[in-house]
Amino acid sequence: MQDYLSELGIKPFINAHDTITLYGGSRMQKNTLQAMHQIAGMFTDVMGVQRAVGARIAALTNNEAAYVTNGAAGALQLAAAVCMADGQAAAYKRLPDTHGMKDRFLVLYSQNHCYLKAIESAGGKIHLVGDTDEVLAFDLADAMTDTVAAVVYTPHIRYDPASLPLPDVIAMAHEKNIPVIVDAAAYLPPRENLWTFTQNGADMVIFSGGKTLRGPQASGMILGRKKWIEDCLRFGAPMHGICRSSKATKEAMIGLCVAVENYMNLNMEEEYERCSLLADRLMEAMKSGRIYRPWRVEHGSVGQSYPRVFARILPPATPEKVAESLLRRRICVGTSKPDNAIVISPLGLTEEEAATVCSALLEIDRSYHDIPPVQP
Ligand SMILES: *Cc1c(COP(=O)(O)O)cnc(C)c1O
Repeated sequence: MQDYLSELGIKPFINAHDTITLYGGSRMQKNTLQAMHQIAGMFTDVMGVQRAVGARIAALTNNEAAYVTNGAAGALQLAAAVCMADGQAAAYKRLPDTHGMKDRFLVLYSQNHCYLKAIESAGGKIHLVGDTDEVLAFDLADAMTDTVAAVVYTPHIRYDPASLPLPDVIAMAHEKNIPVIVDAAAYLPPRENLWTFTQNGADMVIFSGGKTLRGPQASGMILGRKKWIEDCLRFGAPMHGICRSSKATKEAMIGLCVAVENYMNLNMEEEYERCSLLADRLMEAMKSGRIYRPWRVEHGSVGQSYPRVFARILPPATPEKVAESLLRRRICVGTSKPDNAIVISPLGLTEEEAATVCSALLEIDRSYHDIPPVQP
């Protein structure tokens, strides 16, 4: 068999960072790839695939309905578009021209993140509520005018101190008939997040398929109310209109469906234990080095329930230099400026890869042994 990847000079990384898009997100499982392979070789009714897959994902995740999109960013775009169109096909087709439509999306100031550009791409206008320090209920109530298409809420531990609780936001929005979109793209595990946000009353909840779910990298999904998912089916790609440029393929649809099924069958305690053992092993390795001061953190960057390892880097080494040395060995780790640390997530590591990371960390440590330590 021809090895295209080597021919093109494409070499693998060890991903000790997280489910980072830039490194390929996550690894798909065998049965996911098999189903994608099978559908890739056939013609079929793509809308039929979307409906079948949506019904299965909805049943698996305890939701009314589901729709597969092109990434969580594509999901944000479509969710925004259906809120603005509000059931009107002609209005949808006119987007991103929003003349005469509700086109404001309320976003809590602390939750204003880079992916919300997808909403603007459909013609939506982001309207920030509150400031970096706080947002009060009356700030939000005041912003809920009749030009508001939806409230967009992103749960994230870092944003929490200046956010309002989601159930309060939903209650306030629904009182004014405003739908609530939750961007939970990276927020798994806990697995229950697949249904708790919708059970709290959110109208559409968005997840990325290419992160912890281990689906195709350019897949995502909207879970939620039948009314809105029906509009996604009516207006979303392959139909013509603004979201045609972010279509999901039949391979992505079936792939994400199998990935969600795998995720529901995953033994979460075992998976946690696996990550926990790897985290401890990385900790132990770094403890025996001179430049590392490691500690364990019990959650992912958004607040997900898996452990990670941080290690403060002592001078003359710096987190950036250590990360660079690792990258030269084709190992990716994160860095945290405020902690002056490297950040390692066991999520995408096999045992063998973790062992490679441990020996690379110690090798880098030894390279500093001849250099006298910098006086603090
Ligand atoms: C990763 C992420 C996205 C984008 O997900 P894709 O599936 O890569 O499009 C959107 N929102 C948040 C909060 C994310 O973390």
